[in-house]
Amino acid sequence: MKFRSTLRRGSEVSLRDAVLRGSAADGGLYMPVEMPRLPSDFPERMRSLSFPEIAGEVGGLFLGDDVPPDALTEIVNCALDFPVPLISLSERLHILELFRGPTLAFKDFGARFMARLMGYFVRESGQQLTVIAATSGDTGSAVAHAFLGVPGIRVVILYPAGRVSIAQEKQFTTLGQNITALEVAGSFDDCQRLAKQALVDPIAAQQCTITSANSINIGRLIPQMFYYFAAYAQLPSMAAQVVFSVPSGNFGNLTAGLFAKRIGLPVSQFIAATNTNDVVPEFLRSGNLIPRASRHTVSNAMDVGNPSNFARIIDLYDNDLQAIRHDIWGSSFSDEETLRTMHDVERRHNYLLDPHTAVGVLGWESFAKQNHVASHGIVLATAHPAKFAETVARATGLRPEMPESLASLLVRPKQSIPFPNRFSALQEFLLSPKS
Ligand SMILES: *Cc1c(COP(=O)(O)O)cnc(C)c1O
Repeated sequence: MKFRSTLRRGSEVSLRDAVLRGSAADGGLYMPVEMPRLPSDFPERMRSLSFPEIAGEVGGLFLGDDVPPDALTEIVNCALDFPVPLISLSERLHILELFRGPTLAFKDFGARFMARLMGYFVRESGQQLTVIAATSGDTGSAVAHAFLGVPGIRVVILYPAGRVSIAQEKQFTTLGQNITALEVAGSFDDCQRLAKQALVDPIAAQQCTITSANSINIGRLIPQMFYYFAAYAQLPSMAAQVVFSVPSGNFGNLTAGLFAKRIGLPVSQFIAATNTNDVVPEFLRSGNLIPRASRHTVSNAMDVGNPSNFARIIDLYDNDLQAIRHDIWGSSFSDEETLRTMHDVERRHNYLLDPHTAVGVLGWESFAKQNHVASHGIVLATAHPAKFAETVARATGLRPEMPESLASLLVRPKQSIPFPNRFSALQEFLLSPKS
């Protein structure tokens, strides 16, 4: 399969080039030149398939030309070696727990798969690689853990000082080895701008091959399709109408869902659920995307004012607003509503939500109220409640039990480098031989 830029100015590239480059030279994002299509019996057939088997078939459509089937199987088995349970809170409301990986957030899917895929390509060519990632919280830990100890790859994480939780910070600043965390005096949008600039900087490129690990890398998007299929396959019965509610920030997760639908998953609608960083719900209303500085909320991994995957959504629908509105329903929610929902769901269902997943539940509830269709709602649970223990305690009065993997990191010392919000400093850092 070939990939092209959303800006369509460059030439078509292989999967290998698209994954190792991260974003296209013209500044666009990589998209498949042609969307493949699953056999029409697949949605029914997959009910009897395991997660690795589903991943093999779906992934094979995109990776088949570049990665042989047994290499793909090995990547899936190593990267996605944790369960993906669908929990039914009521007859129509289901929660897909995407937080059972090592960093307790759904970004483990994209990051771990991409790391193994890059590792496969680097191993073939013997080159050295620098992976750069801006994070508003969870990307950093997922990327750091995904690449930890991978030979030939160094990882540089950029994160906004004072804007991520202590638990999040510990997960990517305590690892050492090939992982360096830069604590930037700025916002997440500043970090993202610095990372984007590094990726296209000709001077840095003379010294090292730099690639991104943010959700803009097509290598992260592909594995995120798998769990949409796995969720559908776990529904108690073949539901007539399935709606996915996706707590969204940079819109990588939702874009992967749109890909899944395009290649053959029967989804009736997606809900773009956001916190008060509501540029996409606003776009669905007005038809205009107006990027803004991000606002700080309790669901901080979704504090994004200029969602980078939006260009892919526009591209996928050929800029047809009506078609986009047909597939995506948007809504945004305040911190107060988020906290109240965490409280209510705990009381009603005895189930603890993290604040991001709570925004997804709000999306489903508000959709179900306004659209009286007999659909099943699947809310993507993007983080384990223990990652946001303070907020959970504030909302519910309960302390989620901390998984052992997180507890052991919390006692290790932070090793980040305080860093100015200036590209020249980042360039110098990347060029210095000892970093
Ligand atoms: C990153 C993240 C999101 C947003 O996902 P996007 O793909 O950027 O829209 C939601 N919830 C959590 C916990 C996250 O870490």
